[in-house]
Amino acid sequence: MTLGNLRDLYQQVILERYKKPRNKGKTDPVHRFQRGHNPSCGDTIELTVQLNEARDQIQDVKFEGEGCAIAIASADLMAEALRGKRIDEALEMVQRFQTMMKGEAEFPPELRKLNALGGVAQFPVRIKCANLTWHTLKAALEVTDGVAANGFISNETE
Ligand code: ZN
Repeated sequence: MTLGNLRDLYQQVILERYKKPRNKGKTDPVHRFQRGHNPSCGDTIELTVQLNEARDQIQDVKFEGEGCAIAIASADLMAEALRGKRIDEALEMVQRFQTMMKGEAEFPPELRKLNALGGVAQFPVRIKCANLTWHTLKAALEVTDGVAANGFISNETE
């Protein structure tokens, strides 16, 4: 596959996820809730997370919100990729995603869908859009139960 084709394919994945996200809604029950806002574009993401009994593994992630194609596709792909992951693995993924936004990393084959967003690294103004959901997730995972009931995070200062 040529680089051009690959880019088209990735663009297609982003548009498809934007038009028909597969992970929209709220988890049941909600163990973590976090809202994130990206003022530079107007994206807003509300994440809900369902954890296992020991609270160290993610069972489900869902999102609601409004945003551009990049923000929504990123949230949708992230939610899917996180299912079944331990919290420490999820935080590692956050870091890897942020490194990918600098054009310095990719996800391994089992998470390659996330690489569809790798091209965003070439568009600095959109990086915040792609990062928003990961940012929000990190905030959601780093608090203890209940504390983030009205969590709100903005990436304006980044
Ligand atoms: Zn955006």
